[in-house]
Amino acid sequence: ITILGLESSCDDTAAAVVRQGEGAAQILSSIIYGQTELHSAFGGVVPELAARAHAEKIDLCAAEAMQRAGVSFEDLDAVAVTAGPGLIGGVLSGVMCAKGIAAATGLPLIGVNHLAGHALTPRLTDAVAFPYLMLLVSGGHCQYLIVRGAEDFKRLGGTIDDAPGEAFDKTARLLGLPQPGGPSVEAEAKAGDPAHIRFPRPLLDRDDCNLSFSGLKTALMRARDQIVAQKGGLTHADRANLCTGFQQAIVDVLAEKTRRALRIYLQETPAVPLLAVAGGVAANTAIRAGLETVCTEMGVTFTAPPLRLCTDNAAMIAYAGIERFRLGARDDLSLAARPRWPLDRTSPSLIGGGK
Ligand code: ATP
Ligand code: FE
Repeated sequence: ITILGLESSCDDTAAAVVRQGEGAAQILSSIIYGQTELHSAFGGVVPELAARAHAEKIDLCAAEAMQRAGVSFEDLDAVAVTAGPGLIGGVLSGVMCAKGIAAATGLPLIGVNHLAGHALTPRLTDAVAFPYLMLLVSGGHCQYLIVRGAEDFKRLGGTIDDAPGEAFDKTARLLGLPQPGGPSVEAEAKAGDPAHIRFPRPLLDRDDCNLSFSGLKTALMRARDQIVAQKGGLTHADRANLCTGFQQAIVDVLAEKTRRALRIYLQETPAVPLLAVAGGVAANTAIRAGLETVCTEMGVTFTAPPLRLCTDNAAMIAYAGIERFRLGARDDLSLAARPRWPLDRTSPSLIGGGK
């Protein structure tokens, strides 16, 4: 099965061709046109600018992916596209492009939930077996999912406010560090003293898998203001200590909530218990180490796809398309673009013709 996948739900315009025969899936091409420069002056993604850039580039991107893969429309079995959740203008660009291809070529159309794309990535990269536990930690999401099948996700909990990536980005902004905040805060944290500032670990008193990161941001702002009020500014060491304290709070909260999520997951008695992470925040070395420690402690295998497949890309959409295609899922030209689309309500009946 060979599928062209399109992704345009946030600030990357992406297209990829993925093929799977009997064995492992193969990424024939994966093209990403980023928009970092376009939005850099605004301190965040501007939906209108993103939508226009997606609309301008998605066809080109698809053509380039097919050319690099050396395939023509006759070689494809279907075209898969992110149908949500995401910025609606961008999602629409992808969905319209995919519908155009489907209408012109007669290829089946398959709508993919962007989160399902992330959640199924460990099967693309490592052919892991269901059920596994997925922690999705990115700029826009933070949630625990038991992945039982390509269309069967059980959400155990997630953030009730900000995503960790968002918190890293805001922290960088508050401390005058460059964007994206994750890598710059992580680099700064290396020089810090973990015993210096202790930030709150929200929701640890509650025995569930929900997380909260907005209070941490406020605590950081207060700590920063206090230092500035005392000394008139931040030294390099102050900045490093703030970053270390902030990062350590996130490491601890994710480790503890992962322990709880694993306990629930292990009740399903998987043959090979496995935790997979996806999303840009999974690049963080301290966070990974924290998660690995918990996994070792609980006898669970830990895996993280390579970073270029952890962050937004179209290979994961094409691959999720292959999984849905195998299950017999087909959408038609009434496929809707959805700004919101909770993953545990992913089902074929909700995708086709959903309004
Ligand atoms: P989503 O995929 O949920 O819509 P997104 O596209 O913004 O959101 P990703 O591209 O998966 O998310 O990840 C980007 C986020 O990852 C940014 O918030 C960035 O700061 C964060 N990030 C990247 N590297 C690191 C790191 N080393 N430590 C912590 N956070 C990081
Ligand atoms: Fe994403």
